[in-house]
Amino acid sequence: AAESGITWGKAPCRFCGTGCGVLVGVKNGRIVATKGDPAAPVNRGLNCIKGYFLSKVLYGTDRLTKPLIRKGNRMVEASWDEAMTLIASKFQEAIAKHGPDSVAMYGSGQWTVFEGYAASKLFKGGIGTNNIEPNARLCMASAVTGFMSTFASDEPMGCYDDLDLGDTYFLWGANMAECHPILFSRMIDNRLKNPKVRIIDFGTRHTRTSQMADQYVRFTPQTDLALLNAIAHVIIRDKLYDEQFIKDHVVFKRGKEQIGYGLEDKFKFADEPKLIGFDEYTAFLKPYTPEYVAAISGVPATTIVELAHLYADRKRKVTSLWTMGFNQHTRGTWVNNLVYNVHLLTGKICKPGENPMSLTGQPSACGTTREVGTFTHRLPADMVVTNPEHRAKAAKIWGVDPKKISAKPTYNATEMFRALDRGDIKVVWVQVTNPFQSLPNLSRYRTGARKGDGRFVIVSDIYPTRSTELADVILPSASWVEKEGVFGNAERRTQQWFKLVDAPGEARSDLWQTMELARRLGHGNLFPYKEVEREMWEEYRTFNEGQGKDLAPYATYATTRGLRWPVVNGKETLWRYAEGHDPYVKQGEGIKFYKNKPDHYKAVIWARPYEPAPEVPDKQYPFWLCTGRVLEHWHTGTMTGRVPELKRAYPAAVCEMHPDDAKRLGVQNLQKVKISSRRGSIVLPVELHGRSRAEKGNIFVAFFDEGKLINELCIDAYCPISGEPDFKKCAVKIEKA
Ligand code: SF4
Repeated sequence: AAESGITWGKAPCRFCGTGCGVLVGVKNGRIVATKGDPAAPVNRGLNCIKGYFLSKVLYGTDRLTKPLIRKGNRMVEASWDEAMTLIASKFQEAIAKHGPDSVAMYGSGQWTVFEGYAASKLFKGGIGTNNIEPNARLCMASAVTGFMSTFASDEPMGCYDDLDLGDTYFLWGANMAECHPILFSRMIDNRLKNPKVRIIDFGTRHTRTSQMADQYVRFTPQTDLALLNAIAHVIIRDKLYDEQFIKDHVVFKRGKEQIGYGLEDKFKFADEPKLIGFDEYTAFLKPYTPEYVAAISGVPATTIVELAHLYADRKRKVTSLWTMGFNQHTRGTWVNNLVYNVHLLTGKICKPGENPMSLTGQPSACGTTREVGTFTHRLPADMVVTNPEHRAKAAKIWGVDPKKISAKPTYNATEMFRALDRGDIKVVWVQVTNPFQSLPNLSRYRTGARKGDGRFVIVSDIYPTRSTELADVILPSASWVEKEGVFGNAERRTQQWFKLVDAPGEARSDLWQTMELARRLGHGNLFPYKEVEREMWEEYRTFNEGQGKDLAPYATYATTRGLRWPVVNGKETLWRYAEGHDPYVKQGEGIKFYKNKPDHYKAVIWARPYEPAPEVPDKQYPFWLCTGRVLEHWHTGTMTGRVPELKRAYPAAVCEMHPDDAKRLGVQNLQKVKISSRRGSIVLPVELHGRSRAEKGNIFVAFFDEGKLINELCIDAYCPISGEPDFKKCAVKIEKA
């Protein structure tokens, strides 16, 4: 390397929540190569195809390099001073006229920890509004509320080692082969070494994951709720549960059953739990017989019974994995609760190879949005704005008056853009995300952003996007190794990197941009640091100390490939709540859900019913539409679309359809069809024999294609507890185009 003039630095991958380690080769101030880091425990030298092309994502020919300000229909170049003066004046004007809740920040699970922390500190501790949300609300908010309601602490008890140590894997709504390929390959490696390993893929379409699984279980969309209750039903009926574990570690609760789908313009965090007993829970499960659930889900009753027995088999180490199929669900919190129920009934939790494991979409959805707490209702370390003690603690660390932090959560992501549409929010700043491609029922929010009447939209990004085209000011951002950062991945691993190259032109980090606005609004005192990242980290980690979420000093992360919190006395934690692994569990305590003090340190088994989706296929709109990702592209394709190799590999969105449906409609492979929902329509070629196969009556379209905004068709209904919308289910009709 020295001879070729390349120097190598370490960083986590810029893309998914797996958090692979990469080595970044730099020559003459430019990234010339990346490779999997052999010293990285997550990926052991491997990357997926997106990771291998990381060196190209920053070098698209249309990189934004100067601030741009809207003048009529044109965007004209401006200096940073002009742009920031305008932004500050818009904030000041809106706050003076309409109060602090008229300004908002919409951020991202791709923010570094510093960027998210600074934004939260400025908005909650400086401006005095909880109008801050991450795009992670569209991605894993249901996992958060699932964890919080069951364990009173966010994020998983297990870790990626479970992929090597288990022997039975249940995948729910997770196309891991395309969306978490490195983790999938770890599980497949395990199977190559251990013939006992079985992978069961529950899905609504046959994917590359299904092809590699030992068993593919197709179910009708939304009936995952019923299936998990049927599995619990059989486990209790056939006395397969772990009685002692339940006695020692579990309480039972029932929530309020009908609390809407978030379709009204009214937001609430709602759940009204009531303690129940084992008998009441058993009675609740009574209707979920294998036969009843077979009739609604399409999964044979014998298969349900067989899989319940597999879950409960004492000789098997069972891990469940899921991502957006569970989380992007109008009952996302419930379905997360239901998979925990099965693990809690069988005692298969907090042990090597035996855990429920939520996989994350974005590189720092955990580190930045969940741990830092950049949701409207959250503060760092699982604290919430509604709790006066939590507000007091945050105010003390931030050096602000406790009254400054509002006790009222405001809007979830969807509601934030509804408020912009209504005109209740006047100024919104979007950083590191692309809402005007990624929101559901998209036309409504795209129209709302350009209604005028005092509305002002700022977008920070590295390329022009479907969001920058609606902006009043566009700010050019530095990305990934053009700045210093920390990400937290899905297994609680905190990973740090240093700046390795300069950003092009006048692009600057989002952290700098936020602190500059703070200075101009008179909140510069919130950021008094000389060594910004190191000092900010040391301040941030005081939130976590002693809270079961301890982080190491900054210098530790600079020299390691990341550590999984809680990190106590320099030692990371692989399995939480478990004696011998978790420093918070004393000798002799075995397993202790120590964060759930009100329930005597026990976890909660929730009685959560099956409910049909808010919109189901009917005569007029007879197909289910599911949206999602493909291997080659990251989210809305703004980075991967600039990499020629990735673009060539998957150039444009297609409509995956079952050949029998195509025959019925009289369309051939690659012929165009018009897909319409009650909210919009697009024209796409049909794909009948691609890498995945839609089931009859279902279609799938990826959402990366900025030329085909499939999200215009999606329904903006959301889980009323988590606020996460359902991008996986709505009703559409299909006609020959
Ligand atoms: Fe990057 Fe995810 Fe691929 Fe790993 S699996 S290289 S983190 S995109």
